[in-house]
Amino acid sequence: MPGFEIFGAEERKQVNDVLESGVLMRYGFDGMRNNHWKALEFETAFAKRMDAKYCQLVSSGTAALTVALASAGIGAGDEVIMPTFTFVASFESILALGAVPILVDIDDTLTVDPKAVEAAITPKTKCVMPVHMCGSMADLRALKAICKEHNLILLEDACQAIGGTYEGKALGSYGDLGCFSFDYVKTITCGEGGAVLTNNKKYALHADHYQDHGHDHIGNDRGAESHPFLGYNFRISELNAAVGLAQLDKLDGILKIQKDNYTILRNALETVQGVTFRKVPEGGEENYSFLSFYLPTEELTQKAHKALIDAGVDACFYWYTNNWHYINGWEHLRNLKSLGNLPAEVKNQMQDLNNTDFSKSDAIMSRTISSLIKIGWKEKQVHERAEALKKAIASVL
Ligand SMILES: *Cc1c(COP(=O)(O)O)cnc(C)c1O
Repeated sequence: MPGFEIFGAEERKQVNDVLESGVLMRYGFDGMRNNHWKALEFETAFAKRMDAKYCQLVSSGTAALTVALASAGIGAGDEVIMPTFTFVASFESILALGAVPILVDIDDTLTVDPKAVEAAITPKTKCVMPVHMCGSMADLRALKAICKEHNLILLEDACQAIGGTYEGKALGSYGDLGCFSFDYVKTITCGEGGAVLTNNKKYALHADHYQDHGHDHIGNDRGAESHPFLGYNFRISELNAAVGLAQLDKLDGILKIQKDNYTILRNALETVQGVTFRKVPEGGEENYSFLSFYLPTEELTQKAHKALIDAGVDACFYWYTNNWHYINGWEHLRNLKSLGNLPAEVKNQMQDLNNTDFSKSDAIMSRTISSLIKIGWKEKQVHERAEALKKAIASVL
């Protein structure tokens, strides 16, 4: 998946445009910048590629989630429903606003189970945040129906699934808001960066102001701009945006290679009895950045993971015991360890995560292995990997 594998002359050229003028900031300095507006150019190109009306670039994927939530008016005590399998950024962004993360089970799509979402709704619920983990999506049709019925905001975290589609729409453009990360290990990278997509003019305006201290961006004198509401600094720099512009041009090529490599690995694993695959909701197409599969039991899955390591098959993840991605590893969240005092709403409304039943998630995560799909593999390497993968898994079944 990582765009860093193909960093090259195109990225250098874009960055040099910025270095030659020395204007590293996305706003102002009109006379000095040789007409380079890399962040703005990226936003226009990305919105077009994703077929969304508005794009707001920010400094990270975590910032994108925070800005998206803030733009939709989420604040203290509002409950945001999120999955047990995700990246820590989900609850970080929610907590940053004084809102309350409510964790719910996933299903065999490896994303939130719509039934669990529905069961978690309270009068305080404001937003549902599905996370399209490992290149594939949540059941967005079901989630949209739930959000419509209960008047909730649907915010897609598409940080790991850029380029995937659902019912012909780009992931991240289906809900009210969608978020992307361009950190160093994502499908395309800016070094650090993120984006918010929306078709909602009000949210787009809020995002524009919020990520830049509440500046209204009217006129061309930053010092004279007014601040309709409080904001923060989540701006991206021109240097980062420049890298992203070059990477965005490579996105479709990356997706094609991922699909080819994924297909070779999948065809090999299909022949192994006992292996099943992550469910992709009807109407969806993955971005093929990971191949995720299930084994029959936790014990066999742990054996298989060990067999893969012993066979030298790298980049295979067993998320169940991983620090970053599954609730098992989030001791700091479960025990609410924070540097300073947390808002009373958070303390009062948080689930007791040490004693909440997530056995449905455990039953899936404990049997899941994901292989990263690299784009730098040579064809011979992919075929060798397919054989090694097949052999290692078959050896434990
Ligand atoms: C990477 C990632 C993020 C956060 O992105 P950063 O740019 O690293 O802050 C959020 N959600 C998911 C699912 C991610 O994988």
